[in-house]
Amino acid sequence: MILDLHTMLVAVAVATACCAIARIVLYILHPGLAGLGYWAWASVIGAASFAVAGTGAGMPEGWSLSLAHGLVVAGFCLVWDGFRRFLGRPGLTSRFYLGLGGAAVVMIVGSHLAGSLHLRATFNSALVMAISAAIARELLWRTPPHRLAMRLAGWVYFANALFFLVRGLSIGFDLEFMAGKMSYGMTVVASMWWLCVTISVTLCMVLMASERLQADLNEQASRDPLTGALNRRAFASLGEREIVRARRTASPLSLLMIDMDHFKQINDCLGHGGGDEVLVLFATLAGRILRAEDLFCRFGGEEFLALLPSSSLMEAMGVAERLRAAFSAEGAGLDSEGKLPFPMTLSVGIAALAADEDMEAAIRRADAALYRAKDLGRNRCELAGG
Ligand code: GH3
Ligand code: MG
Ligand code: MG
Repeated sequence: MILDLHTMLVAVAVATACCAIARIVLYILHPGLAGLGYWAWASVIGAASFAVAGTGAGMPEGWSLSLAHGLVVAGFCLVWDGFRRFLGRPGLTSRFYLGLGGAAVVMIVGSHLAGSLHLRATFNSALVMAISAAIARELLWRTPPHRLAMRLAGWVYFANALFFLVRGLSIGFDLEFMAGKMSYGMTVVASMWWLCVTISVTLCMVLMASERLQADLNEQASRDPLTGALNRRAFASLGEREIVRARRTASPLSLLMIDMDHFKQINDCLGHGGGDEVLVLFATLAGRILRAEDLFCRFGGEEFLALLPSSSLMEAMGVAERLRAAFSAEGAGLDSEGKLPFPMTLSVGIAALAADEDMEAAIRRADAALYRAKDLGRNRCELAGG
């Protein structure tokens, strides 16, 4: 089957334009997600490059193809920039764009003047290969867990890097090309490949945005909005996993129940907003002192729980003492005007989970220890009995 080259290029441009519309709609729906605008612009530029290649844009053929190649490279850069921003990394700098643009102009104009389509196509393939490899690395390197679409997009760009490597090498051995003519077969294959990549990447982008939104929703549903600590539901389910893990590995697991002393009076003296600031301060301190694997939960009001995997009762006591000392030291800063008639302190009950104990029973024991700490005068840490 012989396909008319120009008709095919225009058809690819139309399909690419449909992908561009999908990416623009995605951007309009979620303007707050970083990088989506770059993906949309990249597809508009991609569609324009095929339109220029297909119609000639009223230019001599060599020049229109050079322009199309330049637009393809610019589109790949924008996509790369968009992925970096989507992943929370810094975007590409304007110096990078200027450097690449300058090199592309020098190469394209130079190859024209030298009359070498061969040189320009090799340079173009090398650039697209390098950018695709950079995108693949960005997406496959340290991908957060459960991000299937991100991985998939990474592999598509990896395949694209391989495709352009092979293309670049094959151009080197293509005699027709060296004679200054476009190879029909190569153009058909490259256009079809472009279409597959654009459609699959656009689908991946839509799925990535939905993965991100789902992850954000899950995060919001599992956290207390004021302090950012886990809420009780999330703590119960994550804590259950830790109990299973501790049993399987026969490692210790300890629980802290933390309650601020005289918090009602703190509210009375500093106002409800001041009380909120104290809660946030404590959550920030806990984030600094606890390890990444510890679970920190706002149990209610001014009560917090911390579950410490691989920590014995005495190690948990050390953590509780560090929290208590840090809160006393930092709390004074929030009462700089001396409105409080007493220093800010907290009391802690500590329990190590027994081998067959569930979370509720451990919380009851830690709570009993906390009450003992309150009875003994507050501002202290007490160990739970067995
Ligand atoms: P104790 O030393 O015995 O623990 O006394 P306390 O005053 O800290 O304990 P109590 O449980 O009597 O009071 C807790 C107070 O915490 C009552 C409530 O108004 C306040 N509180 C609960 N949630 C919030 C909140 O989100 N923000 C603020 N500012 N206060 C809260
Ligand atoms: Mg209290
Ligand atoms: Mg309380």
